[in-house]
Amino acid sequence: MNASVENQAGLVEVRPGIHVWVQPDGSWWLNNAGAVTAGTTQLVVDTCATATRARHFLDALGAATGQTPKLAVNTHQHGDHTYGNSVLPATTVLIGQEQMREGLRTDPLIDGCPPFWSPVPDWGDVERRLPDITVTDALTVHVGDRRVELRHPGGPAHTTGDLVAWVPDARVLFTGDLVFAGLTPLVFMGSVTGALAVLDWLAAFEPEVLVPGHGPVLTGDDITRVLDEHRRYYHLVLRAGADGVERGLSPLDAARGVDLGEFADWADRERIVLNLHRYYVDHDGSDMDLIAAFMDAVAYNGGPLPTRV
Ligand SMILES: [Zn+2]
Repeated sequence: MNASVENQAGLVEVRPGIHVWVQPDGSWWLNNAGAVTAGTTQLVVDTCATATRARHFLDALGAATGQTPKLAVNTHQHGDHTYGNSVLPATTVLIGQEQMREGLRTDPLIDGCPPFWSPVPDWGDVERRLPDITVTDALTVHVGDRRVELRHPGGPAHTTGDLVAWVPDARVLFTGDLVFAGLTPLVFMGSVTGALAVLDWLAAFEPEVLVPGHGPVLTGDDITRVLDEHRRYYHLVLRAGADGVERGLSPLDAARGVDLGEFADWADRERIVLNLHRYYVDHDGSDMDLIAAFMDAVAYNGGPLPTRV
């Protein structure tokens, strides 16, 4: 753990009673979390990858609001958003999408992270804590007098069990990893075409504030700009995948031939390999081999993927 980097994380009140915990720089394992508070009720949106990071978030939130979370929701199964669940008070009721719960239940990385990252992350004293309540399509949570609408996009996108949290009175949308602001998007456990289609679905909420799963909070024209960047990136993946399949290339060789163009400077650019693996398995109907995909990403990167979690 690098304490100086960790201390850069900060709590921002983006609208009255709506807090976001932003962890720069948003690269591997450094996610955003948040909370909606009204009256005497608080709903936390996601936790963090390590026990220490999750505690810092919850301590800062408690200091700012004077409340303990009554409810929490996970936007999807990935460990950067869920491993810290066990740091939540025992009384907090946890909500997640049906397939998110199954994904975390069978997630092997919480028991020990493979050396695909450097340094190898240490989650600390976390335990697998699964949702008490599962959602298939939609659930409205009443936080004091405030509605928070949890919605599943209807199919695979970032993962198979994504949920957004929409706060209509404040027009704040927590997207989880359906949006990576200024960092390379990741769809290897979801769908390239699904992640592309979900962008119109997100825009239709007409949010004033969009809280991405990683990267800075977005407002105004930046929302449209970032959604457009995702569109162009997914089209690039689709073109590279189609070209690679046609030429009989492996996902790794297809990735090596891709000119990332405007996306070349984004953090975690090796995700092109993982995203192409997803394109290939969706194309030929096979099962994703996550280990092989990560080994290819490490090969593309020329070594383990850097993390500062
Ligand atoms: Zn994720």
